[in-house]
Amino acid sequence: MAAGFDITVLGARGGLEDGNLSAYMVHPIGDLRAVLCDAGTVLHGLQVADQHGALDDIPMPANAVETRPGFVLHHAIQAYLVSHAHIDHVAGLVLVSPDDSPKPIYALPSVNRVLSRDLFNGAVWPNMGDRGAPPLLGLYQYQDLVPGHAVALAHTGLRVTAFSLSHGNVESTAFLLQSGSDAMLYIGDTGADAVEHGTRLHALWQAVAPLVRRHRLRGIIIECSYDDSRPDSQLWGHLSPHLLLNELAALQGIAGTPLRGLPVLVAHIKPSLRKGADPVALIPEALRRGNAMGVNFIVPEQGMRLQWHK
Ligand SMILES: [Zn+2]
Repeated sequence: MAAGFDITVLGARGGLEDGNLSAYMVHPIGDLRAVLCDAGTVLHGLQVADQHGALDDIPMPANAVETRPGFVLHHAIQAYLVSHAHIDHVAGLVLVSPDDSPKPIYALPSVNRVLSRDLFNGAVWPNMGDRGAPPLLGLYQYQDLVPGHAVALAHTGLRVTAFSLSHGNVESTAFLLQSGSDAMLYIGDTGADAVEHGTRLHALWQAVAPLVRRHRLRGIIIECSYDDSRPDSQLWGHLSPHLLLNELAALQGIAGTPLRGLPVLVAHIKPSLRKGADPVALIPEALRRGNAMGVNFIVPEQGMRLQWHK
């Protein structure tokens, strides 16, 4: 019986640099049928993961016609989960689509609407989907998720429950992935409740608190786009370290259980073009300074593979 989660980082950052944008391949440990959480970078991420040996244990038939990254794309990745349709979360999906295998795209209705109307629309790109402007190529089947309602992800051992998030003026998504009794959270771009003047993260924390209490939540992937030098009024629906720490403290408070040791993967850091102010260094420093909870912060690198289990 598979338990826990195997995560391969196909894209780790949140902008500027093409070729390393949010994309996380997730499957239960020992069950190679995977989903991709966001798809900012797909083929290049698989190639980098392959160079790091992160795909070596995927069994390939001796007569496979594809390269190893191609085989993983065609036969291991069974579905896409798209948190929102911003380019840095879907660019890899668009670019790889001409040589992809048929797959469902699971997303909230507002996200699927943008993908089908504004991206795979026959003008920006051929219509690879099964909705919108003809001709429909139908390679991707849009699956609308209902917030708070768990569904099985076809051809995988995973279930997903979507939660709506506030990302400035855009609806984004948190995906709660479950494998047996284990759970993990992939949180797309989001602002803090205090800055977004909302309660969506609060509602998410309430929903997952019972899993924290029962020690079933194996880890969280969450964004921290900017360092703390950026004013809260200029976060454009993103988190900075003090706000991320506040939100994790809110989860801990609602759960009533220490988060000590919980893996928290710090995704979507936006690189800076300024000399001497590297957010990839500043953000983890700030998180570690404020880490009274003893959370296990991890800064992902492209091609990295992690396993989250008991
Ligand atoms: Zn975004």
